[in-house]
Amino acid sequence: MALIRLAYASEATFDASPTKSGVEPNVARILLTSRRNNPKKGLVGGLYYGDNRFFQYLEGEERAVHELYETIKKDTRHRNVKTLIDEPLKERTFKNWSMKYVPVAGDVAAFLKRQGLSEFNPYAFDREVCEQMIELIRKSSHDDKLINHSEARPTAAPEAPVSSGVRMGLILAGVVLLGAFVAGGMLLF
Ligand code: FAD
Repeated sequence: MALIRLAYASEATFDASPTKSGVEPNVARILLTSRRNNPKKGLVGGLYYGDNRFFQYLEGEERAVHELYETIKKDTRHRNVKTLIDEPLKERTFKNWSMKYVPVAGDVAAFLKRQGLSEFNPYAFDREVCEQMIELIRKSSHDDKLINHSEARPTAAPEAPVSSGVRMGLILAGVVLLGAFVAGGMLLF
């Protein structure tokens, strides 16, 4: 199956209400749903929410991306969904993440300043600005500030516990070694 990439802009229908963690609760729910669903469909990408607008980028099998996009377009939490990119892709450019999120406005604020934009308005993004936005999400180093911290970083694998069989073997080896020492000592005297 062919891979594709898709990006769109949309406008939130809810009024933003930031929480202590800084992630708008509606956006937090969308992210949790995305992280639950997207890996099963082999979808990766990123989401940015700012100034009451969304920018989402998706990569995956053509059918999976388009099916999800049809669902997303019907979602009442946003409207005026405008496709910015929908084209074939040679290979995936997002790795390890089902849905990256750029929760800290700083990087995006700097990005907008560079573009001479006063607010986050993905509807006005031309191709070049779209690519830069995707790159910004791809390179975001803020993954540890995701709302679901347990998903944020793969933790180091716990050390494998020593099995009871191995433990018994070690004890036996110790006893045998001790016996050899004792026997050796007796032979010397
Ligand atoms: P459900 O279990 O049906 O719902 C998941 C959660 O979302 C529940 O808490 C439910 O109450 C809530 N919810 C669902 N629809 C609404 C609604 N219309 N209004 C308020 N709350 C609602 N889904 C993905 O799977 N992957 C994505 O990448 C993705 N990106 C999205 C980006 C945007 C900007 C938006 C607005 C939505 C996105 N969604 C995404 C959500 C998508 O539109 C569907 O709601 C979701 O895919 C349904 O999946 P589900 O049946 O597993 O979720």
